[in-house]
Amino acid sequence: MTNQDVIRLTDDYTLGTYKRFPVALERGENATLYDFDGKRYIDFASGIGVCSLGCGNDAWVSAISAQAKKLPHVSNLFYTEPAAETAKTLCERTGMKGAFFSNSGAEANEGAIKLARKYSFDKYGAGRSDIVTLNHSFHGRTITTLAATGQDVFHNYFFPFTEGFVHAEPNDAAGVKAACSNGTVCAVLMELIQGEGGVLPLDKSFVQEVAGFCKSRDILLLVDEVQTGVGRTGTLFCYQQYGIEPDVVSFAKGIAAGLPFGGVLANDSCAGTLSAGTHATTFGGNPICAAGANAVLATLTPEFLGEVVQKGESIRKAIADWKLPVVSSVRGLGLMIGIGVTCSHREAVGKMVSSGLLALTAGEDTIRLMPPLTITKDEIDAGLTILKTILSTY
Ligand SMILES: *Cc1c(COP(=O)(O)O)cnc(C)c1O
Repeated sequence: MTNQDVIRLTDDYTLGTYKRFPVALERGENATLYDFDGKRYIDFASGIGVCSLGCGNDAWVSAISAQAKKLPHVSNLFYTEPAAETAKTLCERTGMKGAFFSNSGAEANEGAIKLARKYSFDKYGAGRSDIVTLNHSFHGRTITTLAATGQDVFHNYFFPFTEGFVHAEPNDAAGVKAACSNGTVCAVLMELIQGEGGVLPLDKSFVQEVAGFCKSRDILLLVDEVQTGVGRTGTLFCYQQYGIEPDVVSFAKGIAAGLPFGGVLANDSCAGTLSAGTHATTFGGNPICAAGANAVLATLTPEFLGEVVQKGESIRKAIADWKLPVVSSVRGLGLMIGIGVTCSHREAVGKMVSSGLLALTAGEDTIRLMPPLTITKDEIDAGLTILKTILSTY
């Protein structure tokens, strides 16, 4: 098949929910991908932060292949080994008490929201079910996580949305406290770097103040690390750089390096909340996905994470050093990078894709780079050359 064949087939037989680039990708090696016409692309997107180990990572391929041969799935009516290992590793490396596994980020956040509401119901009874989220946030596409998302563009068409979400301004601790003042709030949910909203890192002082406030009121702090988690920002989870201890952390995207996997981690005080029969999912903890996650977690050694930090810093520095008029700011942590631009970010990314560089947009004016964590220096240099060429045309 050619690119055009795949594009025509897709457009003929799938619902038109996606506005796609006119490229059909066929295969790749680490951060270098090829389309059906044999054209080469440097991957600064990794499938929106999913392919954390790039394409064809040997340890990951053997782990998931071996598990696929042994046992693909059994349901959560039985015990399996890979998910138990994933949970143990995540808890040991975070100090959290227990994990619940899902298949996606939205579903992970649904779990966090259900946990928070039940925690409060168990302790305080009905009427304390509101959850404060931040403007510019993104928490998913289910009816509930759309309601949680603090962007009005997502609150259309699908009424009625789930009740009980209150939005506050990021980096305004007084505003968050005011939103919590009537005693109906059970949790605050936030991303530490707002990803879809524009790669906007929250201020450390704001996050710490909210964390302290939540603790003093027994309001749970839920951190959505679906995008920032699993090594993306240079630590296993981003909250570990913010000096806070959330009650619940959700994760997904990069955890299994390309397989649909996610979940929540809960700390000591709320690990018992989702008791038997209160929450479940058929695919959650799937052994093949968990085997993939174990390969990812084994890769994320302190040395490896140190390299993620360095690669991110070198990319941000390179872009800033170009001093291009179109670039208004360079933000982010680790390999989650935002470039604020004064041109149309969509048009610029479209030109990059045509020129062989896969990049992402975020917010209103941001080009977002999230390469595989395993990207090599040569691949970074090749990608930056294209990035500079395109941004220099503005
Ligand atoms: C992508 C994302 C989600 C939604 O994840 P899905 O797997 O698409 O359901 C939720 N929260 C954040 C912060 C995300 O970046």
